[in-house]
Parts: sequence; C-alpha cells; structure tokens
Amino acid sequence: MGHIIIHQDRIKDAEAIKAFCPFNALDYVNEYLEINAACKMCKLCVKKGPDGVFEWCEDETEGVDKAKWQGVAVYVDHLEGAIHPVTLELIGKARELAAKIGHEVHAVFMGSGIRHAAEELLHCGVDHVHVYDDPALKHFRIEPYTAVFEDFITRIQPSIVLVGGTTVGRSLAPRTAARFRTGLTADCTFLDVQESTDLDQIRPAFGGNIMAHIFTPHHRPQFATVRYKIFSAPERSETATGTLTERTVPADRLKSGIEVLEVRVKEVTAGLEDAEVIIVAGRGVKKASDLAMIHALAARLNAKVAGTRPVIEAGWVDARKQIGLSGRTVKPRLIITCGVSGAIQFVAGMNNADCIIAINTDPKATIFNVAHYGIVGDLYEVLPALVACLAPAAEVLEPAFA
Ligand SMILES: Cc1cc2nc3c(=O)[nH]c(=O)nc-3n(C[C@H](O)[C@H](O)[C@H](O)COP(=O)(O)OP(=O)(O)OC[C@H]3O[C@@H](n4cnc5c(N)ncnc54)[C@H](O)[C@@H]3O)c2cc1C
Repeated sequence: MGHIIIHQDRIKDAEAIKAFCPFNALDYVNEYLEINAACKMCKLCVKKGPDGVFEWCEDETEGVDKAKWQGVAVYVDHLEGAIHPVTLELIGKARELAAKIGHEVHAVFMGSGIRHAAEELLHCGVDHVHVYDDPALKHFRIEPYTAVFEDFITRIQPSIVLVGGTTVGRSLAPRTAARFRTGLTADCTFLDVQESTDLDQIRPAFGGNIMAHIFTPHHRPQFATVRYKIFSAPERSETATGTLTERTVPADRLKSGIEVLEVRVKEVTAGLEDAEVIIVAGRGVKKASDLAMIHALAARLNAKVAGTRPVIEAGWVDARKQIGLSGRTVKPRLIITCGVSGAIQFVAGMNNADCIIAINTDPKATIFNVAHYGIVGDLYEVLPALVACLAPAAEVLEPAFA
C-alpha cells in the first residue's frame, strides 16, 4: 500500500485544484488542502494533477518470503458433512492455479463426524486433506472455526486460500485473514496466478463499471472468496489419490461464547442456481402481462423464469430470481435472454452458462458479445414463434401466467 502526499507550497490555484478529484475527496481544512474519506485511491490527482503537487509514496513493507508459502488451500464448506458444491468448484480452480505455479492443493475440513465425507475429496484431485474432527466443531461457531483455520494456515503456510462466498465463508474468511494481517478479495469472478505466486483476483468494481485486478503482493496468504456457480467442479475420479491427515487443536481454543440450543432446518427449495434452463425477462418486455410469453417458453423447456434488475424492481418477477451482481450467479446449461441489453452487472451473474441465446432488437446490444447464439429481432415476434415450434414438455416447473 501507499499514501498520497500533498506539497502545499506547490499549489498555484487553490480552488481549481479541487476539481482534479472526480470523487470530491479534496477539501481545505484550516487553509490546508487535505484528502477526505471519499478518496478511492484512484491516484488520478497524482497522474493528472498539477506538476509536483501530489506525490504517491509507497509504504515500507517488511516484505514476505513468498517461497515459504506453498500450496493452494480450499476451505471445505459443509452442513453436517454434506459438502457444499462451491467447494468442489473451488477445488477445480485450485488445481488449475496450483498447476501453474507447481504447488499442491490442500483442503481443510472441520466439523464433527466428517472423516468419511472427507475421504470423498480424495476423488477430486486434492493432494492433501486436513481433517479437524471434534464434537466442538459440530455447528459453525465463529471462534472455534477461526481457531482451527488459523491452526491450519500456521502449519501448512499456503500461498492462496479459497473460500466459498456462502454465509459461513463470508463470516469465516475475513476474520481469519485479519488474524494474518493479510488481504482478502470478496466475490471474485475470475482468478489467475502469476509466476511470482501473486494471485490475480479479478472482480467487478465501482458498481460493476470496471473489472478490478486486485493483488496482495506483500502479504501471505492471499484470501479470496468466490460465489457458487462461478467455476466448474472437476470430474470425480474412481480412484482416490492424495493424503488424509487428522489434526487437532487444544481444547481451550475450541471454546465459544455461542451456545447452539437448537437447529431448525429450513425447507430447501430448488433455487435459481440449480436450474438447468433459465429464461430471462429484460426491460424489452413492455408490461407485466407480457411475461406470459416468457412463462410459455419456460413451460416448453422446463425452465425457470428470471429477470434483470429493472424487471425485479417493477415487481414483475420475484426478487430471488434476479440475476447479476446484486442478484444470483447462475451457470445453467441453457439461458435465453429476452430484451436484455447485457449490462456488465447482469452479465457478471450469467456469463459462465454453457449456452447463451440472446434475443434483442438492437444488433449492437452488448449481450451479443457473450451470447453463443443471437437472434436480432422483436421478442414479441420471436417468442411466440419459438413457443409454437416446441412441443409441450412433460413436466412443467413454473405455471404459465393466466
Ligand atoms: C451496483 C449495481 C448493481 C447492479 N446489479 C444488477 C444485477 O444484479 N442485475 C441486473 O440485471 N442489473 C443490475 N444492475 C443494473 C444494470 O446496470 C442494468 O441497468 C440492467 O441490467 C439493465 O436491464 P435490462 O437489460 O433489462 O434493461 P435495458 O438495459 O434497458 O435493456 C433493454 C434491452 O431490451 C431491448 N429491447 C427493447 N425492446 C425489445 C423488443 N421488443 N424485443 C427485443 N429486445 C428489445 C433493447 O434493445 C435493450 O437492449 C446493477 C447496477 C448497478 C449500478
């Protein structure tokens, strides 16, 4: 990291200089130009500001011996031993990253009565599975889980730690990262690694208007969380490979101020994330009743219906069916977008779909940049024609609108 120094004596036009910051982060306090909390560290003032007024100063870092941090680790997210599929997706990505830098893949699995479930990971290409099996870890409680995670990282010293962007992961990863005074990038949509073992953590920033490449060059490990359905899970191999090591931490480190009195299991309903086929309604749909066309196509294809943000905000589609940066991330086999422009905030939630078909009247719509097949046309003509071509499906998941 670093900071910006302002050379007050070099300021020529006191008022005009404030305009160099697009975020209004420059203010006069007691006649001194200062940087306020609105600063985004974009360094535009350093690059484009008047000569010599703004200077970027790198903070001194102790530096880290990167050679001592070896391996790509994945936190195994689970509920009573049932492994969350995001874990397998992360293992797939971990294998890819590890192969690039010649490291090994580790999985850390903490819980109670999980030994058998842990063995399954040896069929997924993990080199080393580390199991912390203790009754105190039966339910997720932040203090003991963090203590175990910390123990694992201290022993293994992995260079990279990947955690699923689940409710548990979003709580556990930042707390553990803080213990090591290292960085964490939440909700990465792409990950790559450099020869130096620096992780290239890529995610939308500034409201999705740019894709930021975030690095943690001076600290280890490098923490990243990734949502479900961003990466692909590896094929399960029939043969088990790798090692499984049972580990323990002292009992006093498993103490918690939280006592779990009862667990009430919520009824699980298949979410949008699990749909194999999705039809998306965009603002090209003029009114709520016109969604009947979308539902008719969905019924033909056993598909779920989803919406872009404007359609959700209009209240035409359930809010849990919004796809995108502030909605769900999906990876269906087929997605058909109807009257969707392809804003980056929407595309970030669906561009990993196996097959994307876009229907839009505007041949220049950016959705066509990610679509495998594009239909330039009016959805009011295309959808009825498609529905007419398709035989009714045996099983209808969503009722068509009356
Ligand atoms: C921080 C932030 C987060 C956001 N998160 C999300 C998110 O999670 N999900 C999301 O969707 N958006 C999100 N947005 C909003 C996003 O930027 C876009 O505004 C939104 O995705 C646009 O939705 P749309 O494509 O339906 O509408 P528009 O952009 O208005 O596009 C409508 C499209 O329909 C086409 N069209 C019009 N009539 C027809 C017709 N008869 N037949 C065929 N095509 C037709 C037009 O050519 C146009 O391309 C977010 C924005 C911000 C700032």
